[in-house]
Amino acid sequence: MSLRGCSLLSWLPVVFICGVLAWAYYAYLLPLCVYTVTDTTEKVCYLISYHGSLAMLLWAFFQTVFTPLSRPSKEFSLCKAERQALEGDGGDDGGGAERGVDMQRELLRCSAHSLPLATCTESGAIRYCERCQLVKPDRCHHCSVCDSCVLKMDHHCPWVNNCVGYSNYKFFLLFLLYAALHCVLVTFTVLRYFLRFWTEGLADTQARFHILFLFLVAAMFSVSLLSLLGYHGWLLAINSTTLEAFRAPVFRGGDEAGDFSLGLVQNVRQVLGEDPRLWLLPIFTSVGDGQSFPTRRRDEATSRLLGPRHRHVGRTLAVPDDEEDDEEGEEHTVFVNPAACSSSSAVIFMQQEEP
Ligand SMILES: [Zn+2]
Ligand SMILES: [Zn+2]
Repeated sequence: MSLRGCSLLSWLPVVFICGVLAWAYYAYLLPLCVYTVTDTTEKVCYLISYHGSLAMLLWAFFQTVFTPLSRPSKEFSLCKAERQALEGDGGDDGGGAERGVDMQRELLRCSAHSLPLATCTESGAIRYCERCQLVKPDRCHHCSVCDSCVLKMDHHCPWVNNCVGYSNYKFFLLFLLYAALHCVLVTFTVLRYFLRFWTEGLADTQARFHILFLFLVAAMFSVSLLSLLGYHGWLLAINSTTLEAFRAPVFRGGDEAGDFSLGLVQNVRQVLGEDPRLWLLPIFTSVGDGQSFPTRRRDEATSRLLGPRHRHVGRTLAVPDDEEDDEEGEEHTVFVNPAACSSSSAVIFMQQEEP
């Protein structure tokens, strides 16, 4: 079970956001629109735009919060024999170092054929999560807060008490967009009355303090949300994630072998979906399965990786299927090279057992 579901404290930021929105709703509705704004047309315009942007903000926000994590499918998990070999005496295969290197090359080649992997570790090994005991799909990372591998993980966001990844990145983007719009709208509509506060044109009532704080809070959130929106708009345009912006993915076959960026329009479509009419709605329309991604240069090697197996994996999004993960009756033995191990990853050597 993930940590985030167990801790009530982890929900505090979500409750805080809801609290701020609830207070702002009261302050905008009564102190501003009912008690302060006198012109009916202005009042109606304010109320319609406020409720419209608030509804979209809340829709995107709760979609981001409550969309389940997208985990790798069972095909990426190790079978029982492989796990046992990993937990056992890794690397003690009785062979020499040269044999180990050859074995590694051969087995990595085998892995490339069996799973749709275009990326690897910096040392060229298969990306593996010891905690989840699975081969990490491209762009998948382990979240220590959620204690799970998350597909196309962007970052863990405490404000939504959820991992932002393949399954909810579109919702997160739209949340930023509508939250920024909402705050900018409030800032500019309240500005006029905020200025009256200083020129003493506003009656000295409790309402004017709500208007004062409404402006300050909305302006503060506008600045931070617009900055964040700009950053994620840039990531969307170049088809990257927050994690990848800090550490670029390493492609098998070298830097020129691949790039997830397919050009601006295709990059946007990958996250927001193929149909532009649905781009601004917080419903899931992201392209693909979250486990493999097209690369810019789709030469023969890449096409092979994204071939029939890719389509097969594409059946599942987040929920692992119940298929056995033994592949076509082949027996594999797994060895771990301690020299190439890090705290979170290990090089896997897979060798077909000799008869
Ligand atoms: Zn993991
Ligand atoms: Zn997480």
